[in-house]
Amino acid sequence: MSYYLKKHIAFITKHGKEAVIIPVLEKNLQCYITHVKHYDTDQQGTFTRDIERVDNQLNTARHKARIGMEMSGLNLGLASEGAFGPDPFTGLIPWNREIIVLIDNETKTEIIGEAQGPGNHQHLITSNWSEALTFGKKVGFPDQLIIIRPDHESDNRIIKNITSWDLYEKIFHDVINNSTTGYAFIETDGRAYANPKRMEMIAKATKDLLIKMQSCCPDCGTPGFTVIERFPGLPCKNCNGPTKIFYMDLYACQKCGEHREIRCTDQEWADPLYCDFCNP
Ligand SMILES: [Zn+2]
Ligand SMILES: [Zn+2]
Repeated sequence: MSYYLKKHIAFITKHGKEAVIIPVLEKNLQCYITHVKHYDTDQQGTFTRDIERVDNQLNTARHKARIGMEMSGLNLGLASEGAFGPDPFTGLIPWNREIIVLIDNETKTEIIGEAQGPGNHQHLITSNWSEALTFGKKVGFPDQLIIIRPDHESDNRIIKNITSWDLYEKIFHDVINNSTTGYAFIETDGRAYANPKRMEMIAKATKDLLIKMQSCCPDCGTPGFTVIERFPGLPCKNCNGPTKIFYMDLYACQKCGEHREIRCTDQEWADPLYCDFCNP
């Protein structure tokens, strides 16, 4: 039986994220999710830099979840928060990290679902319509929406909700005519419903959250019995020494402190490729 059976969870959001989050959680956990709409989550920061996010991604999500709980009077609250940046490996690919957090006031625990990968987050500064058109095709417009403003990335004359090529072209020329420099700053819209790739990432983060919400402590039954540490050291097939490959996960319960080490691989030996001794 689901721990969340018939429980009510507040979920504060704008921008259509509820479409990929609510059905998955309600169906699999048999809970009820109360969608808290009457709050402008953009107060916590926007992707267009007109309102800067003051806190980090996780704290912003926690804060939004708590507001939803306060507004609805519920003990369980859910919120998601996304971020774009360069990829952590080469720094060259636009990267998207999505977090979705569940706060439980009864057990005083929180569960964090997470997903990350390449995202659609690009911009172009141009005075030339054919370049703007190429950019639109490259980013997947009009399924992926774009935002235009005159001159530079900080100009506050932002035009959003451009939904067709005709409108895009007309607005592009209007923006150029109203600019000081003759250039337009064009970028992909980061809001969830306007960014299909981001929506996919939110769905992945939701799956991660769901798995963690379904993982209950073997001792006290509290959900969120999850990995807090991973141990490398699967022995090398060649020299028997420890490699960089993970072989054990440490699970912990936030409520009662129960810990368990659980093997995370069926493999007995690691490829010498991952051995610092055999393959320095
Ligand atoms: Zn426990
Ligand atoms: Zn070795």
